[in-house]
Amino acid sequence: MALTDIQDRVSKAEAKAGRTPGSVHLIAVSKMQPNDRVATILDQGHRLFGENRVQEAAGKWPDFRETYGQIAVDLIGPLQTNKARQAMELFQSIHTLDRPKLANTIGRLAQEMGACPTLYIQVNTGEEPQKAGVLPNETDAFVASCRALDLPVEGLMCIPPVDEEPALHFALLAKMADRNGLTNLSMGMSGDFETAIALGATHIRVGSAIFGERP
Ligand SMILES: *Cc1c(COP(=O)(O)O)cnc(C)c1O
Repeated sequence: MALTDIQDRVSKAEAKAGRTPGSVHLIAVSKMQPNDRVATILDQGHRLFGENRVQEAAGKWPDFRETYGQIAVDLIGPLQTNKARQAMELFQSIHTLDRPKLANTIGRLAQEMGACPTLYIQVNTGEEPQKAGVLPNETDAFVASCRALDLPVEGLMCIPPVDEEPALHFALLAKMADRNGLTNLSMGMSGDFETAIALGATHIRVGSAIFGERP
């Protein structure tokens, strides 16, 4: 089974890196996957998923939650401010806090709603123009401004450039989290999660290696 294979590899990578068993959370990235594949993973008892679109997640998870009970779903894709409220109602964590305007909106809604998902700041470690995320040299200041808004920022997230050694980006993210007193690191995907675990990932986002290629 793909899920148990991946769980196995996660355990081995934790052991190899001297990490506490179970300290790495496996987010099963179900975006664009057919519902029957998602149900198979739910049937195996997995309860932590990742989606990259608010609309798609809103169309699928309320029904799954009705059938399977409590399920944690994290947003790992870009968030428009006009979808922030819906996202805050739907997701346990948002991994893509990437700009002051979004921070302000989430801060205001959190006051109003009396609750807020845990947040990760997305860092554009490769400084790619087409990619979301704050730049590495702006990250410390952005963390401070989010804290000033009382936002529950718990970690940093990155998506390394496809054509570069991911380890360099994971190490950079870990260093930035450490100097900002942030404990969580959302990094590592199907192709590189073991490297991410070796470098301190607490949350890995694995899609195709669990579900198969996205249709
Ligand atoms: C799609 C996606 C993943 C999962 O990618 P796989 O290569 O299928 O494991 C992880 N993180 C983000 C932000 C994604 O958009």
